[in-house]
Amino acid sequence: MQVSRRVILLGSTGSIGQSTLDVLRHMRDLPELEFELVGLGAGTRGDELLKQAKEFGVRDISLADAEVASGLQFDGTLHAGAGSARDLVESIARPGDLVVAAIVGSAGIDAVMAAIDAGCDIALANKETLVAAGSIVMPRAAERGVHLIPVDSEHNAIYQCLRGCDSDKEIRRIVITASGGPFRGMDQETVRNATPEEALAHPTWDMGQKISIDSASMMNKALEVIEAHWLFGLSSDRIEVIVHPQSIVHSFVEYVDGSVLAQMGPPDMKTPIQYAMTWPHRMEGCSDRMDWESLQSLVFEQLDHDVFPPVKMAHEVIERGGTAGAVFNAANEVAVEAFLNRQILFGGIHDLVREALDGIPAQEVHSLADIEGADAAARALVRERIGELMNRPATMGENK
Ligand code: NAD
Ligand code: MG
Repeated sequence: MQVSRRVILLGSTGSIGQSTLDVLRHMRDLPELEFELVGLGAGTRGDELLKQAKEFGVRDISLADAEVASGLQFDGTLHAGAGSARDLVESIARPGDLVVAAIVGSAGIDAVMAAIDAGCDIALANKETLVAAGSIVMPRAAERGVHLIPVDSEHNAIYQCLRGCDSDKEIRRIVITASGGPFRGMDQETVRNATPEEALAHPTWDMGQKISIDSASMMNKALEVIEAHWLFGLSSDRIEVIVHPQSIVHSFVEYVDGSVLAQMGPPDMKTPIQYAMTWPHRMEGCSDRMDWESLQSLVFEQLDHDVFPPVKMAHEVIERGGTAGAVFNAANEVAVEAFLNRQILFGGIHDLVREALDGIPAQEVHSLADIEGADAAARALVRERIGELMNRPATMGENK
């Protein structure tokens, strides 16, 4: 069987982007696959983007940082500025192409929408797009008849375990595994006062900065619960989380007859990335294999919701519906940035997201403009609160 596909990779300089390029390098050795990389998009790292374009012979690229882009010499088409990933997609995407969406944050929504409108399938890493705009993205994808295949390891696992399941009535619930992050087992006070260095040190996954902080705060699992709600069309009471520190079981699907299917493998994003790219086929992979000889046991624990409250907030966000996901996501994005800039304590991330959710009522979503409005309102509220906290003598929310 021969599989040929044009691929556009957005977020190519990031952790998922670079792993995707590793998968594409590996695919060159598979005679049955002809994946042609035709577009590359990135945020700020212009030199790295040019290097990638040269290696893969890509003629169309985009860079969100217009200033950096203006200093680049590129013998092809370079789209620059905030909307450049969308411009790139609009200019080169054809029906049936595959867009790997690996931009971080709600900045990726526009390009995903453009890809869906162009009739492309999406290998989706950019979970924030679904958290903020799932109510627009999912119906549009269905309308256009395009496939949205999750790259996020847990959702990719569930997607695999759902193969052959043709009705969600067969599913009792899904159980998303969480590694527990660097602060598993620690007490509330220690976690609230953690430094960026401590929070960035993930025990099992090597990832970009934002998702590493999200993993430490358990916001990542919260985003994943909401992502699963949109991807699989399940109500919040059918989505659970369990801590599994080894990150070998990537998630479970429990069926109504009592059968539980799990997908397992060593923690390496190249496996779900490749599956999302070659779906519905499976091809020779390039990740480490399971080492069955050293595997002694699999460990599972309950999540401590007192120390890590975000997962409960995620269920609340699903129940509220409307723009709640956009508010939740945007507030978290701003708070994570402030934490990395040492403007707030680690525990302040949760507090600020809580304030945004309580301060901005969920509105119905009719269009992307409603999402953008909620996103902007949450960013403004959180930025204002951070400003107030920084101008006050030190209290619980800030870093000295
Ligand atoms: P990263 O920070 O390493 O990379 C992000 C990429 O997006 C970079 O190429 C950056 O230049 C680009 N980018 C950032 N802002 C942009 C903008 N405004 N316009 C265009 N491009 C922009 O992040 P990552 O860890 O690769 O994560 C990417 C996405 O995948 C996130 O949504 C994350 O939650 C998800 N994800 C990552 C992993 C992982 O292992 N890293 C696992 C599951 C899901
Ligand atoms: Mg994940």
